[in-house]
Amino acid sequence: MSDIEKINRFTRREFTEDELYIFPVKLCDNAIDRDGERFSDKALEELKTLFVGKTGIFDHDPRAGNQEARVFDTEVISENKTTSDGRPYKYLKAKAYMVRNAANQPLIDEIDAGIKKEVSVGCSARKKICSVCGANVFEQGCSHVKGKEYGGKLCHYIVDDINDAYEFSFVAVPAQINAGVTKKYIPKEEKSMDFTPINTQEELDAAVKTAVDAAVAETEKKFSGWLSPESAAVLTKERDDLSAENTVCKAKVMKMQIAAENGIPLELAENMAGDSEEDIRKEAQKFAKYLTSRKVQPTPKSTGDTPFANSKNNAQLEMLRELRNN
Ligand SMILES: [Zn+2]
Repeated sequence: MSDIEKINRFTRREFTEDELYIFPVKLCDNAIDRDGERFSDKALEELKTLFVGKTGIFDHDPRAGNQEARVFDTEVISENKTTSDGRPYKYLKAKAYMVRNAANQPLIDEIDAGIKKEVSVGCSARKKICSVCGANVFEQGCSHVKGKEYGGKLCHYIVDDINDAYEFSFVAVPAQINAGVTKKYIPKEEKSMDFTPINTQEELDAAVKTAVDAAVAETEKKFSGWLSPESAAVLTKERDDLSAENTVCKAKVMKMQIAAENGIPLELAENMAGDSEEDIRKEAQKFAKYLTSRKVQPTPKSTGDTPFANSKNNAQLEMLRELRNN
């Protein structure tokens, strides 16, 4: 597709090449700029797509008004040189057009003469990554300072994950390095850059408390559903108690079953010693043998008669004493 064909996709009527002024412009690159920031190579590719159809403005010019250029083509260019931190240098080149008319002619002359050549780009990014630790400074702070060296590594921020591009503008003040690229980002950055100076002990205490509270809240959130060692100890004890109770109950049931099998009154079952089935069966045999030899009648159903109940208890106690002495 020729330049004029690409341009005519943006115009309301067909233009001829003679009616238009077409010029190249270097929008931005991947070198570290004077703010200590750079675009990632991926960001350049994202900007390449986003800048097609965006306008170029001359907002520092009092005559600005209707003067506008429009980007109709973009390309990432690799140059045979490296950035200051040793990466292959790349930049985003755009082709823009303006209508050739009397009002635009002075600007066209300035662009042709190389007087107007520095531009700034407006875009928004989701990430600004610390080159030292990899933190996205939009989301989490880090202790590294742009422009300082850490272990021989220069700290800078890498602008990445571009979500929109706004426009480019010719800047009046030239001589900025790297085509005078300046950047506007999503409001999040302004928030993260918002810094209130701390002047008093109270303000410091408050700031520390806020940070500590946030850390505690985060930790609680992280470990919600987990038990403290104290709670775990209580639950362990409850479990052990229940387990012990369960063992006692099982032994009780077993004693009653074995007692029934051996014709031993259930009232006596609990008095049989032993925890294992084997021991209880041995004990039951002893009881059965004794009961047979003494021809003890099964205890009658309770009559509610206290003296009788007492005498029954006494008889049982006597029997147990004799059994234990065997
Ligand atoms: Zn960092």
